[in-house]
Amino acid sequence: MSLPPLVEPAAELTVDEIRRYSRHLIIPDVGVEGQKRLKNARVLCVGAGGLGSPALLYLAAAGVGTLGIIDFDTVDESNLQRQVIHGVSDVGRSKAESAAASIREINPLVNVEIHNTALDRDNVREIFSGYDLIVDGTDNFATRYMVNDAAVLLGKPYVWGSIYRFDGQASVFWAEHGPCYRCLYPEPPPPGMVPSCAEGGVLGVLCASIGSIQVNEAIKLLAGIGEPLVGRLMVYDALEMSYRKIKVRKDPNCVLCGENPTVTDLLEDYEDFCGAVSVEAQEAVVDATITAAELKEWQDAGKDIFLVDVREPAEYEIVRIPGSTLIPKGEIISGEALAKLPQDRQIVLHCKSGVRSAEALAALKAAGFRDAVHVQGGVLSWIKQIDPSLPAY
Ligand SMILES: [Zn+2]
Repeated sequence: MSLPPLVEPAAELTVDEIRRYSRHLIIPDVGVEGQKRLKNARVLCVGAGGLGSPALLYLAAAGVGTLGIIDFDTVDESNLQRQVIHGVSDVGRSKAESAAASIREINPLVNVEIHNTALDRDNVREIFSGYDLIVDGTDNFATRYMVNDAAVLLGKPYVWGSIYRFDGQASVFWAEHGPCYRCLYPEPPPPGMVPSCAEGGVLGVLCASIGSIQVNEAIKLLAGIGEPLVGRLMVYDALEMSYRKIKVRKDPNCVLCGENPTVTDLLEDYEDFCGAVSVEAQEAVVDATITAAELKEWQDAGKDIFLVDVREPAEYEIVRIPGSTLIPKGEIISGEALAKLPQDRQIVLHCKSGVRSAEALAALKAAGFRDAVHVQGGVLSWIKQIDPSLPAY
């Protein structure tokens, strides 16, 4: 399926532009006409992180006339392993500002619009409506569903990508011509089931692999060339070095873009929709939550506790709370690790932030460990309250 170009061509290219974009102009499918369309295009990149970095760099170099950047975060040293639009001197600086500076260096002809704010239900429509196309580089489910819903409600196409460890996915969602993200993933995953890149890691160069697919699709849509990735999901496995395309059909029962939609406006609360923790976990933590400071008091007082770190082995390697034993959450949920747990000692669970340990606590309580507790805020709270010299990750 080919689609008409998203953008009308600009009136003309200047002499500078003809020189700069000559390698595009001599490609028959792009040509002067395609380059004029790119010049007139307005593209918004949600997030200037792992995917946003390569996407913004190549969109800028390609000559997209206006690039919007929305990001409220600041550059951290741990970003530099993959977020190549930022450099050492940008650490501590706003990501949107830092990305804008890199873009100006690559291509001063690009008009950059900075949205140094968090995308939320009150601003998403207004921000999106100023752009022809959105490139989604977000890393959390709440924002992802909000981006999708806003795009569908406004009739905008967007290029989606996601990355985790060695695996990447990309697609173009445009409800007018194909499925939306909800057709593919009607429900967010159960809380705690899908670790984020901050929890599970990501191979830096994977961002470039998926980000470049996103830019490739953006250019095709803007200029109306080739077969856009509408109704198809690209699945990339960096270890196998395989690209697979999976057909994604529009779901006639989709609550958003189906025949009888029930979601006709943005949701009140996307965090809530994606659920920070499950109902079972919410119930399990009542009267069974201690702070990092309380854990330290228990340890200092010589209380007989069995401290269980439910994170993954690599996280345990990076930083650990002294005295903890590693038993990943999956082994507790599956029941496999229950035999390793003492019946006669106070069990204390913790993870990185308190979400996974809450889920593990629910499983332990259901298995009869009624006195077990978990540490609110996990390792991150421990670092903040007890030992700031440990590496946060
Ligand atoms: Zn849909």
